[in-house]
Amino acid sequence: MRVVTVPCLKDNFAYLVVDEHTHRAAIVDPGEAQPVLDAVAREGVTLAAIWATHHHADHVGGNKDLLAALPDLEVIGHTHDRDHERIHGLTRAVADGDEVTLDGLRATIIHNPGHTLGAISWWLPAEAAVFTGDTLFAAGCGRMFEGDAPMMHAALQRLAALPPETQVYFGHEYTEANLKFAAHTEPGSDAIAQAIARASAQRARGEATSPSTIGIERATNPFLRAADAAEFGERRTAKNTFK
Ligand code: ZN
Ligand code: FE
Repeated sequence: MRVVTVPCLKDNFAYLVVDEHTHRAAIVDPGEAQPVLDAVAREGVTLAAIWATHHHADHVGGNKDLLAALPDLEVIGHTHDRDHERIHGLTRAVADGDEVTLDGLRATIIHNPGHTLGAISWWLPAEAAVFTGDTLFAAGCGRMFEGDAPMMHAALQRLAALPPETQVYFGHEYTEANLKFAAHTEPGSDAIAQAIARASAQRARGEATSPSTIGIERATNPFLRAADAAEFGERRTAKNTFK
C-alpha cells in the first residue's frame, strides 16, 4: 500500500490509497474533485472507489464531480448515511466489522459515532493504517455534532486500542492548535512538548503533520487520555472556546 496525501479545500486531507501491485486506488474523503483527479494523473493510478468517513460536505463534496468524470466508481459509506441519503452516489453501505477490499488491500470498518452518527474509520490491519476522518485528529477529535460524550468517548477508546504502531490518517490539519490545548490540559508533558516541536518543524517546511500513530495519540491526545466519559465531555466543551 502507498498513501498519497491530497490537500483539499482550506485544511482538509483526502488520501489516495494505492495498491502498488495493481496500481488501482481508493480515495478517502474527497472534499473536492480536482485535486484528486490531479493526484490520480500524477501518480499514474486508476481510481476505483470513494471511501467516505462521514457525510459532511468537506469530506464528500467531490463525489459528484468525481462520478461525472469516472462513472464506475464504487462509493462506500455507513448505513446511517445511506438511510439519510446524505452521501452522493453511494453504491454500497457498510456497518461495524464489515470488510472492504480493493485488490490486495483489506479494510475493516470501525463504526465510531459521535462527530456524526454514521461516522466510520477505515482500518487496514495488514498495512498498520487507519483513516479516521473527523473522529480522531492528531492531538484532537471532532466536535460532537450528532452524538454525546459517552458515545464519542467509547468510539475514541476503540481507536486507542488499535496497535500502537498504526498510522493515523486524519481529516484536518488542526494539529498545532490541538497541541496548544493538549499542553494547556497537561502542562509539563514531555510527549506533548516533543509533538509540538515535530509539528512546528513540519509546518515550517510546508509539510502536513499527517500521519500520526496510535502510540503518539495515546501519549499526547487529551481526548484519548480523558479518564472517563465525563472528563472527555468536559475537555470537549473546554476546547470549543479555547484560544
Ligand atoms: Zn465532519
Ligand atoms: Fe471535516
